[in-house]
Amino acid sequence: MSLADLHFFKMTREPSLDALCAVVAERHAQGLATILYAGGTDWMVEQEMRAPLHDEPPLVVDIGRMGELRGISLAGDSLRIGAGTTYLELERSAVVQARAPMLVRMAKDVGAVQIQARGTLGGNLATASPAADGVAALAAYDATIVVKSARGERRIAMADLQTGYKKSTRAADEIIVAVELAPPPEGSPWYWRKVGARRAQAISKVALAGVAVVENGTATRFGVGMVSVAPVTARMATTRALVLGKALAEITAEEIDHAVDQDVTPIDDVRSTGEYRSHVARALTRDLLRQLGARV
Ligand SMILES: Cc1cc2nc3c(=O)[nH]c(=O)nc-3n(C[C@H](O)[C@H](O)[C@H](O)COP(=O)(O)OP(=O)(O)OC[C@H]3O[C@@H](n4cnc5c(N)ncnc54)[C@H](O)[C@@H]3O)c2cc1C
Repeated sequence: MSLADLHFFKMTREPSLDALCAVVAERHAQGLATILYAGGTDWMVEQEMRAPLHDEPPLVVDIGRMGELRGISLAGDSLRIGAGTTYLELERSAVVQARAPMLVRMAKDVGAVQIQARGTLGGNLATASPAADGVAALAAYDATIVVKSARGERRIAMADLQTGYKKSTRAADEIIVAVELAPPPEGSPWYWRKVGARRAQAISKVALAGVAVVENGTATRFGVGMVSVAPVTARMATTRALVLGKALAEITAEEIDHAVDQDVTPIDDVRSTGEYRSHVARALTRDLLRQLGARV
């Protein structure tokens, strides 16, 4: 879609989150869709590919400047990141650099700088694509999503968010307000590796996010999220169970490969084959565990 085509859509702004919730709720009750235009980087591409509109086009609300969706703050052991935070803002945030450095590394791998300047974490979560890099990183941190509607506010654990390909437990009238996560102690090990067709502007063939706390050679916290290997972000339950609380030096390469094979059965698609993805999934997981201290 070119910018000129935007005149098909009615675009507005709302003065507050409560006002936005009311508009979305009213339209939802009438069976009408509302697009929340954050960075527009997913929505604009969807417009390019969609069939011609015959019904009334959805209302598009520009939420890019909505204060309640912005800001990054650390309170005690909780890091809160507004849903409207862009990848570039993540990269530049001193508190994210210090307390959740894996998010910074992930953000640098999203699209290229133009996408990083516009695209938001909220948009990445809302689209709920199995290739969403931000979703994988937040899964590794076992983050919580704060959503709000006219019915009130609630929290969704990352483990409960995605239910299928681009499907989630977030209701259609719920707005993603922020993500919250408990950052590991400063200096804790983390891992981010994205494998794509090229270094920028590439959707992941496979990407692995990892967060750990290691004490006396044992992982006392271990979270992972893997992208593009299942209809939803893979949380790798078997791999987590293998690693958590076990002496890292005793974990073997065979155990890792077996756990990864239990966790994911990737399919062939336009970006890669399932066989290659399985190979990369095992290799990245071994690499992560080697960095944590496993002798593999
Ligand atoms: C060239 C290119 C490269 C890309 N590269 C990557 C990549 O490497 N990795 C990756 O993960 N993604 C990538 N993307 C996808 C996209 O940039 C990201 O998913 C981005 O985070 C989307 O955020 P946005 O703010 O632009 O969403 P928008 O396009 O503004 O919104 C997308 C959808 O989310 C909804 N939405 C937005 N904000 C909220 C909210 N707060 N609450 C509820 N619903 C909301 C909107 O209604 C809309 O339906 C790429 C896209 C392009 C065009």
